[in-house]
Amino acid sequence: MSTLEIKGLTADVAGKQILNGVDLTVSSGEVHAVMGPNGAGKSTLSGVLAGHPSFTVTGGTATLDGVDLLAMPAWERAKAGLFLAMQYPVEVPGVRLEEMLVESAVAAGRDPAAVAGTIAAEAANIGFEARFLDRPLNVDLSGGEKKRNETVQLATVRPRIAILDEIDSGLDIDALRDVSRRIEQLTEEGLGVLAITHYRRLFSELVPDVVHVLVAGRIERSGGPEIVEELEASGYGAEG
Ligand code: ADP
Ligand code: MG
Repeated sequence: MSTLEIKGLTADVAGKQILNGVDLTVSSGEVHAVMGPNGAGKSTLSGVLAGHPSFTVTGGTATLDGVDLLAMPAWERAKAGLFLAMQYPVEVPGVRLEEMLVESAVAAGRDPAAVAGTIAAEAANIGFEARFLDRPLNVDLSGGEKKRNETVQLATVRPRIAILDEIDSGLDIDALRDVSRRIEQLTEEGLGVLAITHYRRLFSELVPDVVHVLVAGRIERSGGPEIVEELEASGYGAEG
């Protein structure tokens, strides 16, 4: 059982305060949706938790199973079991997916010999063509292909808690179904998920336990899946 606990988190980017006191707790097997208007700070929250150097934490705490994440470099956070599927996955020329995931397995003390087979099986699970797997990481992949690449990484690395920053963006209908179904299966095996999205469509296969609405760097309200329907119908305007 793992728990990501965020309390009173505040952060700046380029000298401007973006996160204004975020409180959020995600445990194993749970799916927490985070929705909110453009510029609300959703990607800032993911970047701050993952340890992106653009952001400066100015207050609050974030712990994974009681261990201070904010004191660790990004790689140690990953090793502790935190995973970020980026909104805009970074292209890394010269590094193949398998090479990266083998290093990750070694760092985690898992058998690197199993990695190639797992990648192939996970790609097949979501209908991701094997020919993309040999490319340098994310290089020359379409937006949707990058999102499937992130999903293969997630399913191979097997983190405790995954932050998915718009994993649905750019996916066609079939890929969206496959990706969200695979993530739902992983949650049934104990993965905790923080799923940032704008759209209900992510939640046809992946079932959210709690939905949070992030506005101006703060969680304005939290509730059940009915919030997704409400937002789909009336947008954020009605929230005030
Ligand atoms: P969301 O993901 O909710 O759409 P972001 O967290 O990406 O919002 O952005 C929140 C605010 O922070 C926006 O006003 C954005 O322009 C600003 N911002 C994000 N990253 C940077 C950066 N690296 N430099 C300057 N401003 C940034
Ligand atoms: Mg964003």
